[in-house]
Amino acid sequence: MIIKSAEYLISNVDWQKCPRPNLPEYAFIGRSNVGKSSLINMLANKEKLAKTSGTPGKTQLINHFLINQAWYLVDLPGYGFAKVSQSQRRQWEQMIENYLRKRENLVNVFVLIDSRHTPQKLDLEFINQLGEWQVPFNLVFTKADKNTQVETSRNVKAFLNKLREEWEFLPAHFITSTVKKTGRDAILTFIEELNAQ
Ligand code: GDP
Repeated sequence: MIIKSAEYLISNVDWQKCPRPNLPEYAFIGRSNVGKSSLINMLANKEKLAKTSGTPGKTQLINHFLINQAWYLVDLPGYGFAKVSQSQRRQWEQMIENYLRKRENLVNVFVLIDSRHTPQKLDLEFINQLGEWQVPFNLVFTKADKNTQVETSRNVKAFLNKLREEWEFLPAHFITSTVKKTGRDAILTFIEELNAQ
């Protein structure tokens, strides 16, 4: 897919105030600092579309972008930021659950996983929660340039093996680096194919 246009539309705390659900929608989520903003900017080919923030976990908003006048890209606030209070965390959970379960035009959620690490409980828990809610998702292993290829694929395999303990079928996964600009085409082609269905 060629990105001809990418524009920021609106940020909301309430899924009901999101843009009219008249276009297919793809959401991106992951632990704070996983590289979500960088990935969104790489996909859209715009350096500052999503903010790469210095204070992770601060923006607790559902951010909508319009791509090619044809689909919505949604930047969801990250989870697992230690300095967030209990009440902020509950607010996040409620907002995310409502959005993910009720947004009718949501086609797919891309869950970002930091490829530098061995499987993390928080990511696995979030994914299993998506399963319970029956929300379609894929995995994006980020920051692949930070490790050797061997280490990255070891971590990816370990993560998928962990998922196999709970899941009969594994979702597709992507491996990305915004430094080396890898994984972009694969994700955009995947979205293009879903949009064509
Ligand atoms: P977010 O909090 O999930 O939106 O994460 P950011 O996109 O702000 O990235 C967090 C940090 O990781 C920043 O310092 C980025 O420059 C860095 N980062 C993000 N993606 C990559 C990547 O693919 N490779 C490397 N080496 N660093 C990355």
